[in-house]
This record gives sequence, C-alpha cells and structure tokens, in this order.
Amino acid sequence: MITLVEVGPRDGLQSEPKVLSLKDRAAYITRAVESGLRRIEAVSFVNPKRVPQMADAEGLMKRLPRREGVSYSGLALNERGAERAVDAGVDEVNYVVISTDTYNRANQGCSTDETLAQWDRVAEICAKANIPTTVTIAASFGCPFEGEVAERKVAALAVAIARNAPKEIALADSIGVATPVDITRVVSAVRSALPDVALRCHFHNTRNTGLANVMAAIQAGVSVFDSSIGGIGGCPFAPGATGNIATEDLVYMLKRMGEAQTIDLVAVCETAVWLSQVLEHPLPGSVSRTGIFPFAPKTQESRVAA
Ligand code: ZN
Repeated sequence: MITLVEVGPRDGLQSEPKVLSLKDRAAYITRAVESGLRRIEAVSFVNPKRVPQMADAEGLMKRLPRREGVSYSGLALNERGAERAVDAGVDEVNYVVISTDTYNRANQGCSTDETLAQWDRVAEICAKANIPTTVTIAASFGCPFEGEVAERKVAALAVAIARNAPKEIALADSIGVATPVDITRVVSAVRSALPDVALRCHFHNTRNTGLANVMAAIQAGVSVFDSSIGGIGGCPFAPGATGNIATEDLVYMLKRMGEAQTIDLVAVCETAVWLSQVLEHPLPGSVSRTGIFPFAPKTQESRVAA
C-alpha cells in the first residue's frame, strides 16, 4: 500500500512569489482532503520574516477541517518551532537535517551536528505531547553547494537520527538531481544500516526524473511519497528550480498500478486547475492539462478542462 503526503501547502507555497491568504491556503488543504489525501504537510513554524508565505500557522490550523484519518503535519526547524507545532495542534511534526554543513548553515544557520543535537530536544518535546515525528534528511542525493553526497554519509546521519525513534525518516532530493540508480544506492545503504525504520521519499522533478525515482524507491521497499498538487514549488531566486513531483501525475501512475485507489484523480486535477488560477501562472503537472485515461465521463472531463 502506497501512501502519499501532500506537501504543496508547505514545500510548494513557501517558494511561490504570490503570498496566499489563509482562506486560500485552507481551501487548498480542504480540497486535498476531499479528494482522498490523508496526510498533508499543512504548515511551517518558521520565522514569518524569512518565509512570509508560511505566516500564521496557528491561524491556518484553526481553519482546517478535522476528519477521521486525516493527519496534518507541521515543519519545525528548532525547539521553538516544535513547541509552536504542539500548541497549534498538529498531528505530526517534520524536522529537517541537511546532509552537508554548507547547506545546513544556509538553511538553518548552524552545522549539521548542531541541528542533530537539537533533534534530541525536539524529539523530547514531541514525545511528551505524544506527537509522531518524521525527520527529513535534505540533500540526500546531492547538495547545491557541495555536490555529490556519499550514501555512507546519509546512512550515518539516519543512524544518528534513529536514536530518538522517529516514526519515519524521509530521504529528500531537495534539488532534484537524483536518478533511479542513486535512489537504489542510497535507499539500500540506509536500509542496511536501519532495517526496521520506515522510510519515506521526497522528490523534486527538476530534471524530470521524479516518477522514475518513485519507481526505483518502490522497488527498494519505500511506500510513502511526498508530492504537491500541480507540481508547485521551486525557488524564485534559483533559476531553473522546479517543484515537487505533481500529485496528479503520481496518482495517475499509481492508479494504473492498482495503488492509490481511494484518491479521486479528477478532484486532484480540478484542484491543480484551481491552484493555477489562484497562483496566476501555469503549473508544471501534466495530467491536469492532458486529461486522465481511461477517459473520465464527459462531465468530469469537461470540468477538468475548464
Ligand atoms: Zn522539497
């Protein structure tokens, strides 16, 4: 059984030039829930001066529909973020460690080791509140500053992270450089170091290898994947940077494999079309533009095309 985590409300919107209202952010998440997505990275507890797109996580959490089986995750980069996440009532916390010091310093203002040390305290805060955690190892497949990242380095980091028993460890291709052979190589290294830890993968489609990487990860035993509706994301300050793999493209592929049967692909496509209007630019996802196959009933098909 493959599970998707809709990360567009966080990883996607945080790099969009247009700052959406709380109303539109809540509408996006509500649409995702109504289309059958069950894990949503909804908010980020970072400094709103640094990331204005993610301001007022607390206000957004209050607007989200509470449904049986729906889990809202919040990104926290330090203890303060974790405390805010607990107080705001998130169901999961996502903490990030970056595989290289240079990138970790650029993103989090300290070394990878310091971020690891802080993880002990973040894990304690979340454990006390009974909130499960994911730790994302960013730049698991390559770093924008240091280049290639050795799989033994990623595996060693994963082992250090596992000391606080997170619910899962996510391997992120933050800048979209991985190819399927890299996925096989890194996932196997982490698997041999930690046979029992649940793994999740986070791919960006920057070089159009996203879905191929998903297939390699599935073959390596990974069953949880991050994606964003419309394939939104990418950094406005980094030319050529693109978003996460598009949820509708991933769901289309998975459905043809007999997976993701509880997700309404037409509804996801409609949300991609809506999101493109709200964000005022075309989105990179394919299936919302090309239509699904087998062809949807006429009414639905024309709604998607609208
Ligand atoms: Zn990302």
